[in-house]
Amino acid sequence: MPFPLPESWSGRTLAGVRTKLLNWFDKHQRDLPWRRDANGKLTVPRDAYRVWVSEVMLQQTTVAAVVPYFERFLTALPDVPALAAADEQQVLKLWEGLGYYRRAQHLHAAAKVLMENHTGALPDDPDVWAALPGVGRYILGAVLSQAFDRPLPIVEANSLRVLARLFGYRGDPREGEGKAWVWSAAEVVLPSKRVGDFNQSLMELGALVCTPAAPACDTCPLSTSCEALRLDLQEKIPPKKKPVAITEVSEVGVVVRDGDKLLLCQRPANAGRWQNMWEVPHAPRAEGEEVNAAAVRVAKELTGFDIEPGAEVMVIKHRVTRYAITLVCVEAALVGGEFVPGAYAEAKWVTPAELANDPVSSPQRKLMTALANPNRQPRLF
Ligand code: SF4
Repeated sequence: MPFPLPESWSGRTLAGVRTKLLNWFDKHQRDLPWRRDANGKLTVPRDAYRVWVSEVMLQQTTVAAVVPYFERFLTALPDVPALAAADEQQVLKLWEGLGYYRRAQHLHAAAKVLMENHTGALPDDPDVWAALPGVGRYILGAVLSQAFDRPLPIVEANSLRVLARLFGYRGDPREGEGKAWVWSAAEVVLPSKRVGDFNQSLMELGALVCTPAAPACDTCPLSTSCEALRLDLQEKIPPKKKPVAITEVSEVGVVVRDGDKLLLCQRPANAGRWQNMWEVPHAPRAEGEEVNAAAVRVAKELTGFDIEPGAEVMVIKHRVTRYAITLVCVEAALVGGEFVPGAYAEAKWVTPAELANDPVSSPQRKLMTALANPNRQPRLF
């Protein structure tokens, strides 16, 4: 069945949408480093490696946050051979603070596959890309349309909003049959040439003009074709996401000190979140459990060490998916015991200055920055 275009559209409307959006993009696109090649030149089609790295970073993360990470990452690991040869710890360290670290691990694993099976080339072949770790339909379409002008669609938050409004889609394009609808819409609007630019223009329009609240319809190149504007439904399309129920969690983190060294533990490869990254041991407190009692229990259960808790170092509040975590960090003196692998893969003793060396999560980095302050005194008793 052909894709249902709005009844108000004429036979020429779709072609007009493509032309207007590309013309708008030519004038208004932001100057972003992944739109240039390694020599700083604006190129179309774009450099596949730069597009790939940027698109992986941009999933779940804003453009402004990604730019400095992208530049650091490309300086350290400028191509597939360099990425494939890198140690995972280096890749994670370059990613530290961006979050969703599985993205970095998948990127790294995919580079190794490309080295092994394709001599490090980034092929113009959707089947090769679809088989790579971490490559879903979005990354596949984003890379192949921008780097090879393949007629493949993309859907992410910005283009989803633009498409739903442009076509006046009343359902939720994030769920159920709405998902299939939005991918079909993204496919139907594609031009036959400049596909990568067109995909970028949809996202750019969503980021700069067709924003979630108060879209700037009076400056929008699609205003004469937009169904949501015609029906005055811009505020209602797409429907707002249902609010997520937040669960409060109280955690204790234990900074175990042995002389001038601090205990750092590595999460195991099967940890899921933050796997292979480092941290001071931490875990939820039981209902009604005192902080010091929790610190003694958590240190023993997670590491095998016996400790004597000291003073509080700091309290860190952070969100992980639907959990609002309050992490109370206490300093503690090592009393005895030996490291027992299990909850953690490895443990090591480091000086406060060495805490900067290993990849850690953002809340842990806050703690470690405080611990590494050269003016700080241990607060054991
Ligand atoms: S006219 Fe308004 S609602 Fe429609 S695509 Fe443009 S900015 Fe979005």
